[in-house]
Amino acid sequence: MTRTAVVTGASSGIGAATARRLAAEGFDVVIGARRMERLRAVADPIGARALPLDVTDGASVEAFCGQLERCDVLVNNAGGAIGRDPIATAHVDDWQAMYDSNVLGLLRVTQTLLPKLRSSGDGHVVVVASIAALEPYPGGGGYNAAKAGARAVTQVLRQELLGEPVRVTEIDPGMVETEFSVVRFRGDEQAAAAVYEGMTPLTPDDVADAIAWAVTRPSHVNVDQLVLMARDQYGAKQVHRRRS
Ligand code: NAP
Repeated sequence: MTRTAVVTGASSGIGAATARRLAAEGFDVVIGARRMERLRAVADPIGARALPLDVTDGASVEAFCGQLERCDVLVNNAGGAIGRDPIATAHVDDWQAMYDSNVLGLLRVTQTLLPKLRSSGDGHVVVVASIAALEPYPGGGGYNAAKAGARAVTQVLRQELLGEPVRVTEIDPGMVETEFSVVRFRGDEQAAAAVYEGMTPLTPDDVADAIAWAVTRPSHVNVDQLVLMARDQYGAKQVHRRRS
């Protein structure tokens, strides 16, 4: 029997790379995101199923999960940051949007798929949080709070599922070059490019590799947390940049 892996937010970046890698590992892969054209472009070459999903919308989550026959691995990856404003001038709307996707989205999808994860007999929930969950930094307030929230949910879930056949893994990457910064800076490509200037960030494949490793350990082994950083980065605030 082929195991099914579900990846949220797989129309780009870490989610797309994870979908490709889990398909290569032999999983039946089901992916969700809002941009269907982009999602199909990821799914088609790897024989995955692409289904519309907005993790901030309960009805969309229900419809997505309702189309799955089984779920052995769930990678909660959908999310991201909006803005780099200091708390003094931060926008409540941005914070609400970040909380909705990174924390409540995690709750909505995990809660809905938990019966299938349990009945698989060997389920695995992976949460893509961030170094931002572990180390707050100026201008990161809303994202730090949201990812710290996602981390708390992950740790609670791990304890609540003790004794059940469902593993829970938190993945905390540092800087990964994806569309993350373009989204964070509201489409400003120049501001996004500056984030990675003079340093070598992680690639989405590096993170997918860590996720694939965690979900292919023997089923009695739970990888609780993996913190993954570029060699040029230490923690959330120190980056070594080479001058050109
Ligand atoms: P990305 O390239 O911008 O990908 C984000 C993905 O999330 C997209 O596929 C997007 O798809 C999806 N998404 C966003 N909101 C969604 C929603 N409401 N419903 C469903 N899907 C949604 O960025 P990424 O770096 O790969 O980010 C993936 C995860 O890694 C995020 O949780 C992010 O916070 C985390 N992370 C990133 C970094 C980094 O440096 N890049 C570091 C640590 C953690 P649609 O827009 O098509 O819906």
